[in-house]
This record gives sequence, C-alpha cells and structure tokens, in this order.
Amino acid sequence: MKTYAVILASGTGKRTGLTTPKQFLKIGEKTIIEHTINAFEQNEQIDEIIIVTNPDYINLTKNLIKQNCFKKIKTILPGGKTRQESSYIGICAIKEDDGKVLIHDAARPFVSTRIINECIKALDTYKAVNVAIESTDTILEVNDRNIIEGIPERKYLKHAQTPQGFNLKLIKKAHELAKNLNVTDDSSLVVKLKLADVYVISGEESNIKITHPTDFIIADAILKNTT
Ligand code: C5P
Repeated sequence: MKTYAVILASGTGKRTGLTTPKQFLKIGEKTIIEHTINAFEQNEQIDEIIIVTNPDYINLTKNLIKQNCFKKIKTILPGGKTRQESSYIGICAIKEDDGKVLIHDAARPFVSTRIINECIKALDTYKAVNVAIESTDTILEVNDRNIIEGIPERKYLKHAQTPQGFNLKLIKKAHELAKNLNVTDDSSLVVKLKLADVYVISGEESNIKITHPTDFIIADAILKNTT
C-alpha cells in the first residue's frame, strides 16, 4: 500500500500583493515550493509526489524539479480555479483506491518530519487526519454587517494547517459528492458530508502558510533558526 503526497501550488498569491505567486518566491536560497517538495522528497515514508501547479508556471516547476534532482515526482498537473478544484485534480491522478494520501499547501514550506510521520501513522487508525494548533486569540463569529453573532469557547477552537491525510477511497468519494460545496480545505468535505471522524494531530507554529508580505520576514527567521 503506497503513501502519496499531493502538493497544491496553483494559487495566484493575490493576497501577497505581488505579481509572482508566492510559492515561486525565494526564502533563503530556494523558492518556497522547493523547500516544500524537499520535505516530502526526504521523507522515507512518502512513495510518490503529485504536484498541482499554476498553469503558467508548469515549465518553471519542471525546471526546479530537475535542478533539485527530485525523484519522487511522477506527475505535474495544471490546477483549477479554487483550492478545492486543484485538490480534486491531484487526487484524480492517483489511479489506485487503496493507500494513503497527504494533501499539502505548497505555501507551507516548514512542515516537519514529525508532522508528516504522525499523519501517516494516524491513518492506520483513522480514515481522515488534520493538523492544527491551539488558538491563542479569541475568535469572533460576525455577520455581514460586522456585528458579533457568537464567540465560541476558545479551548475548542484550533487553527487548521496541512498536510491533511486521508484514506484514498474516502477522499475521492468526498470530492465526488462535494461538487456543490465550497470549502477551503479537504477535511471540511469529510466533516460536512459526515463521512468519517477526522482526527487532529498537533501542528507547529512554524508550519506557517506564507500568505501576507510580513510572512516572508517570519519565514526568513524560521529558516535561519532551522539551518
Ligand atoms: O488560497 P490558499 O492560501 O488557501 O491556498 C492554499 C494552497 O492551495 C496554496 O499552496 C495554493 O498555491 C494552493 N491553491 C491551489 N489552487 C488554487 C488555489 C490555491 O493549488 N486554485
């Protein structure tokens, strides 16, 4: 039974305010996507990697893969309009139904070996696994007029990260049933469709999703601290 990683790199990076999608910008010597692929390439438990990338950046992605001599990437595919579409494109590239898949944001270059390994191990017990950290802020639920509707108790709130791990058959079914749902991550599909319990393992503060310009300053500091 194989373990696959699907790396989602098809975002446009609009929120950084830059023209180049963030995953193709550098932190230290390498682009974000290279750091991210490297984490899965180096992990002995990952058999194969699928990259879903921005259609305008397929050639650049191929060049980066060649330069780094990454060996586990069998498929590079153009992504969709939303993360959900890109994710579905990635899992459809896996022909078998048995096995495990970890779906990861290319924009999270500092995913640790511990997180990847714990996701894979938890999939021996659960069909769906998410990674999350405690919420240090109080989270407000507001309506369209920016009026507070509710303040959920903080101890029950967590910030979701990636990778999110799944039994292949389950996540394929979730995406097929969820064409009309609009979600921001894959575990939301499983939860909304009530297909399985989603077990949460501990994430890390350093597993940031690079999104805003200030995140590059934080990312540089994390890189310096880990090398
Ligand atoms: O937009 P968001 O920050 O949620 O994106 C998370 C990850 O999904 C990023 O790595 C981004 O490149 C990827 N993505 C994608 N296809 C899209 C939108 C986002 O692969 N259409």
